[in-house]
This record gives sequence, structure tokens and C-alpha cells, in this order.
Amino acid sequence: MDGIEQPGQVNKEALKKLKAGKRPPHNVQELVDGILAGNRTLLSKAITLVESSLPEHMELGQEVIAGCLRETRAQLQNANGKLQTANGKLPTADYRLPTAKSGENSIRVGITGVPGVGKSTFIEALGKYITSQGYRLAVLAIDPSSARSKGSILGDKTRMEELAVDPNAFIRPSPAAGSLGGVARKTRETIILCEAAGFDVIFVETVGVGQSETAVHSMVDFFLLLMLAGAGDELQGIKRGIIEMADVIMINKADGDNIGKAQAACMEYANALQLFPPADSGWLPVADICSARSKLGIDCIWELILEHRKTTLSNGYFYHQRMEQNRQVFRDAIDAGLHHHFFAQKGISEVIAGMEEEIREGRMNPYRAAQEVLGRYLGGLVD
Ligand code: GDP
Repeated sequence: MDGIEQPGQVNKEALKKLKAGKRPPHNVQELVDGILAGNRTLLSKAITLVESSLPEHMELGQEVIAGCLRETRAQLQNANGKLQTANGKLPTADYRLPTAKSGENSIRVGITGVPGVGKSTFIEALGKYITSQGYRLAVLAIDPSSARSKGSILGDKTRMEELAVDPNAFIRPSPAAGSLGGVARKTRETIILCEAAGFDVIFVETVGVGQSETAVHSMVDFFLLLMLAGAGDELQGIKRGIIEMADVIMINKADGDNIGKAQAACMEYANALQLFPPADSGWLPVADICSARSKLGIDCIWELILEHRKTTLSNGYFYHQRMEQNRQVFRDAIDAGLHHHFFAQKGISEVIAGMEEEIREGRMNPYRAAQEVLGRYLGGLVD
């Protein structure tokens, strides 16, 4: 009945340190300065803060984001068009990316596809290519092991081994468990932090299941769908709506005996894409084949991403879309703020539980119950 004794081998000092580590150890300015200086440890800490569900962490995280946005905007205004990439090499094309720690000059790319399609192999191949071009890349990746091992980072499957040790790449795995394919994480906020830390290209990876793609689509400039040859759309769990969102569809694993099949699938998708009405972006979606393993087509994909950027920058869609996305962020932030404030009211859970009981017993209609609770909340009566 006394329970189990604390085992003797637990090092109390280490435990204390571990617990202390869970508290936010830094102040806002320290984190903002560290992120702007490209300090990965502080960047990771800040991301952990914004992902946290503890109110004090969330608040701190929001302040860090506000600080980063302020600073990057100021730097953008001071940058005077000075362009430089991480290795000091200037890309030659006129759609070059400035590495001016200016979020507005980054490229945000959503990458989706069902598990097994080769996302991590692909991201590693394309990522290595991008960093070899002198860009800095952040990957907001899915941690596939988390559903099983409940949060262990990278668990039994090591993904993107080469990219993980690339000094110009930063990989942030997020648990996929229970969330919309991994986007319940604070992806938008994480993008802002990574951009403030000087990453030019941001990859956001999702598993192709539906809702998560729509969410990711609303955060990125370019949406890439990875598919397999020889498996129907239904088999791949890909819905028409997702195909419609894609700027590029890549049929992966076009190597060995599979090349012919991949080419045939590519034709089918190219035809299917033509049936969709033209996109507002002025971009005509492309279907092509690639092999993350043999690196076939990897350089072409980067060219397509840059080409898309060039098109949308010149017709104004790039900024139009970002501003539209910001408008959505604003609305979502209001929703989240109200939601948070409502549920933070003292006594609210008891009031809700009471109402739910009445609804369950048929004594209260759900609409009236909601109205009543909201009325009490707005009247400041809940406590
Ligand atoms: P994810 O679950 O979508 O991240 O897929 P992975 O990148 O883990 O790849 C799943 C399996 O497909 C692994 O065994 C890879 O080695 C393999 N794979 C990935 N890309 C290719 C490719 O281009 N060609 C071939 N033949 N196999 C690939």
C-alpha cells in the first residue's frame, strides 16, 4: 500500500537538473538574439517553447516570435538588397534568394505523400542538393516513430542521416501521433523562427492523409506531392483535392525496373492535371518522375521550385498569397486567443461538466446550454 520505493540508483542531482531543464531557462531577448545569430540550440529551445502547452511557455514563445518578426523586418529594411548565401556564393539567376535573415525572402515548400512513398529519402536528396547550392535549409519533419514510442525523437528509424549532420541544414522532427499528420505542432510559428535564424528554404513535411495537407497548403508557397507508380490514388489515400493543390507531382522511385511504370503514371497525372481549372498563381502544375535513391530529377525539382517562385514573384501572386495567409493567421490567432481565454476561466470546466450532464440527461438543449455558458462568460459570471 505504500507504493514502490524510489530506486536507489536515481541520481537526485541529475533529476534536479533534468527538471530544471524543463523550465524556460532563457529570457526573451537572449532567445531572440540567439536565434538571429543562428544559434541552433536556442532556436530549438524557442521552438519547444512555442510548441509547449504550458501557458507561461506559450506566452514566452509568443514574445520570442514577436521579437524575431520585429528584428527580421528591421533587417529587411536595412538589407538594401544585399544578397548573399551561406557559403558566400551568389546564385546567378535573377530569382536568387537573398539570405538576409528576412522571412519574406524565403521559400516555404510543403512536401507530402503517404508513408513509404520515400519522403525522407527524397527530402535528404533534395536537401543535400539545395545546401550544395549554398542555401540554408530547415526541415520540419515528421517523426514516424512517435506514434509507437510516444515521443521518442527519431526512435528506431534514423531519417535523413546525411542532412542531419549538414551544417547548412536544420531538422526539426515533430511527433505525428494524434495530430493532423504532424501539423498540430505550431508549424507557422516554427517557420518564422527558422527564417529569423537565417534559413532560406523551409520544408514542411506531412503524411498524405487529407486535412493536414490543407493546413500545410495554407502555410507554404509551393506544394509538392510525392506519388508512386502502380498504386491507385485510393490506395495511396490521396484525394482529388490534394492533387488539385499540388504545384508539382513527382512520381518517386523511378529507378530500376520501375522507370517505365513511373513514366506511365506520370502521363496519367499530367493528363489529370490538365482537367483542373487554371490556378490563380498563373502556374501550370507539372507532373514528372524522380528517384530519391538514384537522384534522378532532383536538380529539376529545385529548378521547378525556383521557376515557380520567379513566376509568382513577377505576377505578384507570391506576396498576395503570403498576405492572404497572414490574414488567416490573424483570424486563427483570434480564435485561439478566445478559446484559450475562455477555457482559462476559473470554474469553467465545472460549469461545462454540469451542462454536459444536463444535456446527456436530456434536460437541456445543447444550443441553449452553449448560449448560457457563453452568456455567463461574457458577463464575467463564471468563477
Ligand atoms: P517515407 O515513409 O515517405 O518517409 O519513406 P522513406 O523515405 O522512409 O522510404 C521508404 C522506403 O522506400 C525505404 O525503404 C527507401 O529506401 C525506399 N525509397 C525511397 N526513395 C526511393 C527511390 O527513389 N527508389 C527506390 N527504389 N526506393 C526508394
